[in-house]
Amino acid sequence: MFRQLRYLWLVLTVAVWNTLCFVLPDFLDSQTDGWKSAAIILLYVAALSVGQMAIAAVLSLNRYVAAVGLPLYAGLGAVMAYYRVAFHAKLNPALIDAALHTNPAEAAGVISWQIIVWFVFQLLVAFLWVHWRWRIGDISHPWVVLLVSIGIFAAWYWGNGRLHHSANQRYPLHVARSVCRYISLRRSVSLPRQVPELRSVCPPDSLDVVMIIGESTRADHLSLNGYPRQTCPRLSVRSNVVSLPSIFSPYTGTAESVPHILTPADSLSPGKAYTSYSFITCFARQGYTTAWITNQDYGRTYAPFIFEADTVIAPNASKTVYVYHPWYDLDLLAPLDGLMRQQNGTHRLYVFHSIGSHWYYNNHVPPQCERFRPVITNRVLTQNDPAAIVNSYDNTVVSMDLFVDSVISLFVSRNAIVFYLSDHGESLGENGNWLHAAGAEETKYPAALVWYSDKYEQTFPDRVAALKNNRTKHYRTDYLFYSLLSAAGMEATGHSPAFDIFSPE
Ligand SMILES: [Zn+2]
Repeated sequence: MFRQLRYLWLVLTVAVWNTLCFVLPDFLDSQTDGWKSAAIILLYVAALSVGQMAIAAVLSLNRYVAAVGLPLYAGLGAVMAYYRVAFHAKLNPALIDAALHTNPAEAAGVISWQIIVWFVFQLLVAFLWVHWRWRIGDISHPWVVLLVSIGIFAAWYWGNGRLHHSANQRYPLHVARSVCRYISLRRSVSLPRQVPELRSVCPPDSLDVVMIIGESTRADHLSLNGYPRQTCPRLSVRSNVVSLPSIFSPYTGTAESVPHILTPADSLSPGKAYTSYSFITCFARQGYTTAWITNQDYGRTYAPFIFEADTVIAPNASKTVYVYHPWYDLDLLAPLDGLMRQQNGTHRLYVFHSIGSHWYYNNHVPPQCERFRPVITNRVLTQNDPAAIVNSYDNTVVSMDLFVDSVISLFVSRNAIVFYLSDHGESLGENGNWLHAAGAEETKYPAALVWYSDKYEQTFPDRVAALKNNRTKHYRTDYLFYSLLSAAGMEATGHSPAFDIFSPE
């Protein structure tokens, strides 16, 4: 009995230590504005520590398992926690991909004396636990303890949906999940897909095509579409910008929406989102150099399209939406500029996957775009004033305006066309709804824009005239695939005027 108590005491010590060192760092950059929201977060951390307790109980059950398992657990946790605090970096499939494709010199650049000291310190602590465990000796009824531990873990992991989701993002589950997700997305990349068939091609002498996938930006919050606040100060004074205010997206989550936007999938054949290559392959087959520049994680449903591109750049690969630290779409401009200087081709396609208006809004608003105040001050959504949530959201639209306008400015002197389409909208308090992905009506009307250069208009005056004429027509997001091809003089099988914003019909 005395041994059992000493074992229990060890398990509690290990669990509390792990929670403080490896789980709490995930919350240190969370914005809170009072004891109530801080208490909610601490409650979350306490709830997450139950899982740590079950893991510690299993790892400490047997002396030999403890001798290997505890140092491994502490060492890996130390590395994850260090990069989370020092670089606001969190393991995810995009980061694994970047790490696997980095060179040794770059990899050595992220190793410092501080991480080595921290790592060794955690190992020493783990060896103290191992020593402690060896002194306890064998405990009675280990199988009962094991079953109880597994039962506690299962109840903790599957007992509450919100906690389940949160646990998946914390150490150690996020490590296991990131590795599994990466393996799964690499598998999905290699699955056979059909190349969209082009039924006619009439290529221009030179053309740059840019597609910016927006995130959670709703059409009715653009001043270009009549929103009373000035959320588009730059695009509203730029010439050749056409806003499309009547786009309908049946999909309200990124994972579903993006594959449908990029492929010939439509309402009659939605399955093509998962069996067809995207427009990137169509452009590549016509001699375009292609690049995917992203500010988002590599979702499994759209990862295959990322790897269709010749070049993939992810300047913020270490960020996920669970990192409450600023990162901006403006960070994508330097890689674009670098690519444009390197490439000499006459036909180029650039696809951006922006972070746009994704929660936590403030994290994606550079200081110069904080136009509406007061902004939110709390990562716990319900603890914010609804008016402040809308202010912060509108600031993300101002950020989109700056980002899209900055991209356009790099193409002004070229024969070029820039598309922008958000993947879906966002709920902003309608019927008590917030955020997106729940299928709410207000999340089905994404912002959409097209900009063309003067050279493009001189080369294709009919297309531009038709575009202006079609501006207020209703389209499903299915238009994007066919219209992008159409802008570059390509027509795919399945093309119809209903999908083509450049169609005179
Ligand atoms: Zn989205």
